[in-house]
Amino acid sequence: MAVESGEEMAETVTFAREGALAVLSIDNPPVNALSRSVIEGLIAGFDLFEKDGSADGLIIRCAGRTFVAGGDIALFDNPAFSAEPLNALLDRIAASSRPVVGVLFGTVLGGGLELALACHGRIAAEGTAFGMPEIRLGLIPGSHGTQRLPRLVGLAEAARMISTGEAIGTEKALEIGLIDRIADPMDGAAIADFVGYVASRGRPEPAPLQGRADQEVLDGLRKTAAGKPQEPAYRAVAEALAAAIERPFAEGAAIEADWFARLVPSVPARAQRHLFFAERAAASIPDLPKESPTRSVEQVGILGAGTMGTGIALSFALAGFEVILSDTEQSAIDRAFEGLSDALGAFVRRGRLSDEAAKTTLARIEGAVGAAALASSDLVVEAVFEDMELKLAVARELGSLCNPGAIIATNTSTLDVNAIAAATGRPGDVIGTHFFSPAHIMRLLEVVRGKSTAPDVLQTILRTARRIGKTVVVSGVCYGFIGNRMAEVYMRESEAMQLEGASPQDIDRVIEDPAFLGMSMGPSRMLDMAGVDVGARTVIEWVASGAGPRDPAYRALCRRMYETGRHGQKSGLGYYLYEGRKALPDPDHSALCTGLAAELGIARRKHFPEEEIFERLFFPMVNEAALILEEKIAYRGSDIDVAWTSGYGFPRWRGGPLFMADEIGLARIVTGMEHYAARGGDPYGYWSVAPLLRRLAEEGGRISKWTSQGGRP
Ligand code: NAD
Repeated sequence: MAVESGEEMAETVTFAREGALAVLSIDNPPVNALSRSVIEGLIAGFDLFEKDGSADGLIIRCAGRTFVAGGDIALFDNPAFSAEPLNALLDRIAASSRPVVGVLFGTVLGGGLELALACHGRIAAEGTAFGMPEIRLGLIPGSHGTQRLPRLVGLAEAARMISTGEAIGTEKALEIGLIDRIADPMDGAAIADFVGYVASRGRPEPAPLQGRADQEVLDGLRKTAAGKPQEPAYRAVAEALAAAIERPFAEGAAIEADWFARLVPSVPARAQRHLFFAERAAASIPDLPKESPTRSVEQVGILGAGTMGTGIALSFALAGFEVILSDTEQSAIDRAFEGLSDALGAFVRRGRLSDEAAKTTLARIEGAVGAAALASSDLVVEAVFEDMELKLAVARELGSLCNPGAIIATNTSTLDVNAIAAATGRPGDVIGTHFFSPAHIMRLLEVVRGKSTAPDVLQTILRTARRIGKTVVVSGVCYGFIGNRMAEVYMRESEAMQLEGASPQDIDRVIEDPAFLGMSMGPSRMLDMAGVDVGARTVIEWVASGAGPRDPAYRALCRRMYETGRHGQKSGLGYYLYEGRKALPDPDHSALCTGLAAELGIARRKHFPEEEIFERLFFPMVNEAALILEEKIAYRGSDIDVAWTSGYGFPRWRGGPLFMADEIGLARIVTGMEHYAARGGDPYGYWSVAPLLRRLAEEGGRISKWTSQGGRP
């Protein structure tokens, strides 16, 4: 059956008879998403089934590697989108007098699971994953999932799946009654037998839902929703599930439909759709064909077994790589292995890893003293101290000792990857892999492409990153790359305002307040945790190198804090005073700011409006992002949003700094920049508007959608 889809005729759903049964088969690669053509095909196919009175029942199944893995997310941005046609079909399936069964395998998610829920019985292959991930897109299931799932598996399990978006496996699905049987989807006899069973059992009455335990579940959902006022999908989950237990199906379905229609065009849902596509786009590089050759990576060597080296080693070992972790002293290796055991122990305690898997993972990591042990590695990641002389020495050593063809990666946060590459004597083999701390947990990997990095090296690292479960963003070479370069202006303004009289807690509060931004941590708490000494040393080196700002007041605060031993949480003193992990306001910090301001001739004032704090932190970050795009350090605006949401705790429901900037309006940001430039005189050009930002503001363009249209960074 050919089904019309837009301009083309697409053969995405076929209807056939197999003996006494009818079969609807979906074939819409890669994941059988519910595109318009699939929905129309299912409707037309179901019409044929209804006309064909001789079939005893209907099987819905899929070709390829999975049952329907979800809706077609791109459809949601079409103003004409409506869930109604699919929902009407699901009601017809559910009401059919002859049995309809779903044959499930692969990933049965979102709309795919809702299709399966409308069937009268579900049979699934071993290893199938079932989930309702809509909440991660700022949505709720919109095709009766909030009504059918609790009626099938009970409120508590349904609430868990819908409010977390986490998938469950086949065993669990069988245990809670989401599926009826486990069988091989290719086993025709087992499936025919199952259809007979579904026909004979009739429609089991769903268990009554009202009860004390249910009330507790609903209270929990409402509490979560109250804590996330910026994310209305959580309230929608609570209300739609409450309707499922308190009202008839049709009324519950209407409540779900009402919420779904309101959520689809809402900012948090648009923001998360933006990130969904942004994360996929980030791994595609304009001048690197998808099928570019790669090098083989099986054994990974890590040089430097400190905080980062240990986390990086664990990331690779968790994904099944053989790892050699090397440092200059046995004591460093011993410390690293203590850290590895602790981290794996935490995974086991949280149920993320079995004891057995933790042991196997640890056994994949071998400790070694000296770099020579890395000679046979296919990929070597250096994570030694952030010191250019040391990095260059290590690069020279690795360049001569690594196998020809081996990839040499540097985990530097700010240093010049091109200079490090040159020192190896084989710059084509060199690339930057900027992991985030803790490296085995944080999703972001900022890949730094040097001017000589070979295409197969870049391609290999992108593939390897996927194997270890990282979200990648590719950056060109500049101070701080994409993320830390933007963070630098943010820290600069945070410290400038502290010298002018704002307290670290005033600033952090604004940045952590979801009404302004909703970052997980404000700038001062963040640097206190990362180490003021680490940050300050980097700034000092940057300024000393002559490449940094000439402003004598430039980040003078953290430099002074470094000199006076206020190194952050680990020293008990930083921007805050620490009692354990608890950050308290510190009068000595305030005195230090007052003294430093007097030395630098900076006038202090008492009152800092929240609006000013927000604008002075956020607007220059957006401006810096525009410079990063103009300089082709990043390929796309959306890559920058991926970096900040996956690596810096920027809230996903804001879509990243550039999506947020677009929502605020670029013209307002330009005006704000001009206002602060005029007010302070701007001797160092901190507030001069990037030409790209000005142009997009004038044209009404969106910076989160901007791309450099190819070309090397
Ligand atoms: P760290 O001080 O915890 O560890 C550095 C390790 O390197 C130490 O164990 C040291 O003994 C070892 N080392 C020094 N010289 C060596 C040599 N010649 N051969 C072998 N080992 C040597 O530092 P870290 O925080 O893990 O940082 C490492 C790198 O990662 C730096 O470039 C840093 O900028 C970067 N980085 C750090 C973070 C972070 O949050 N800590 C985040 C991203 C990137």
